[in-house]
Amino acid sequence: VSKRVIIIGGGFGGAAAAKYLRKLDPSIAVTLIEPKAVYYTCPFSNWVIGGLRRIEDIAQTYTVLRNRYQVTIIGDVAVALDPLRSTVRLKSGKVLNYDRLIVSPGIDFKWDAIEGYSQSVAESRMPHVFQGGAQTVLLRKQLVSMKDGGTVLVCPPGGQFRCPAAPYERASLMAYYLKQHKPKSKIIILDDKEKFSKQELFMQGWDRRYPGMIEWRSAAAGGKVSAVHAAAMTVSTEFGDEKGAVINVIPPQKAGKIAFDGGLTDASGWCPVNPVTFESTIHPGIHVIGDSALAGAMPKSGFAASSQGKVAAAAIVNLFQGRVPSSPTLVSTCYSLIGPAYAISVAGVYRLGVDGIVEIKGAGGLTPLDADNDHLKEEADYAAGWYDNISRDNWG
Ligand code: FAD
Repeated sequence: VSKRVIIIGGGFGGAAAAKYLRKLDPSIAVTLIEPKAVYYTCPFSNWVIGGLRRIEDIAQTYTVLRNRYQVTIIGDVAVALDPLRSTVRLKSGKVLNYDRLIVSPGIDFKWDAIEGYSQSVAESRMPHVFQGGAQTVLLRKQLVSMKDGGTVLVCPPGGQFRCPAAPYERASLMAYYLKQHKPKSKIIILDDKEKFSKQELFMQGWDRRYPGMIEWRSAAAGGKVSAVHAAAMTVSTEFGDEKGAVINVIPPQKAGKIAFDGGLTDASGWCPVNPVTFESTIHPGIHVIGDSALAGAMPKSGFAASSQGKVAAAAIVNLFQGRVPSSPTLVSTCYSLIGPAYAISVAGVYRLGVDGIVEIKGAGGLTPLDADNDHLKEEADYAAGWYDNISRDNWG
């Protein structure tokens, strides 16, 4: 009988794992559990908010995985894992058996971290836009209907979170929209951190493209948001309340719900894994990839999740065939668009070190601080190429 692999989540990690398992060994029966018929990516959602792409442009579906790669797609939610019996229970009540399970559910939010912030506030007044689709559309709508002269608040979290550069790319592309349509408006970033990803490059870009429009306040300067008041459209910080016409609150994060319910997380709120196979160190037979996994020096990015999906797929094929999985090399590149023809990037290459996954020094890179316009335009072209390539690689 053929071996069965079940994958929970058809995002960047899960879709890549499904496709590559079928490519590497077509005898394996692969089932992907994903409730969404259409998956809207978080990458390039900031381009939609800034008006540079439409929401339809960042929609992915499972048609090719189903038809060309014969992955069985089940539109349901996994609600319980039984690692001893090797089963997954779905919301519909159905119970599925596996030989190996891959869990790639992305993130969940620490809803109790900011007083007054809840799922219903996120869905109605103060979107986080850290999961794609409806949240992206809501923030774009709010920005478009805002009056000129208003203040936009962007409130990024501390701790580990998905795509560390995303809040700052978002501020950049909101500034791009506001500068054209509502030039008296302002963006204040209230940050629960002392520094952020690609900070110098972002700040230089803001000075060049949107002088005076974006203000960044660190946690020490009163950036940490402790409470929100949805009706009044204000947020509370140590230094007083701040009012916003549009408020983007990004709460602190943890592994996806099913990873918690399945007992795959440790005290950090994320899932410890064997860095060669991405197999859980808590429950054998279950692999955790993508944002939910603790992957050493790797950032929580779509590129990293896709790379881990391929590594887990190769490891599972080797294990089924009685071979020892080889030590992988992993990659992640993260482009951030500051405006049209102006992008910056950070790239990393990773391998196994004594303490888990480490970055290979000198193998990655960062956009130089004094890059000229040609260079910055080229990076923006590469960013668009990156999106097309990874979408095709994962879902196409
Ligand atoms: P996800 O892609 O979130 O996929 C998880 C999937 O699992 C979802 O489709 C969900 O419906 C499903 N799911 C969850 N629970 C269950 C369950 N119980 N049963 C069944 N299905 C379930 N990364 C980059 O590399 N480049 C970028 O430019 C970039 N830009 C970003 C911009 C923004 C604004 C944000 C927020 C993120 C960005 N990222 C970027 C990060 C990227 O989106 C994530 O790192 C990536 O999506 C992680 O993949 P994943 O598979 O772990 O989770």
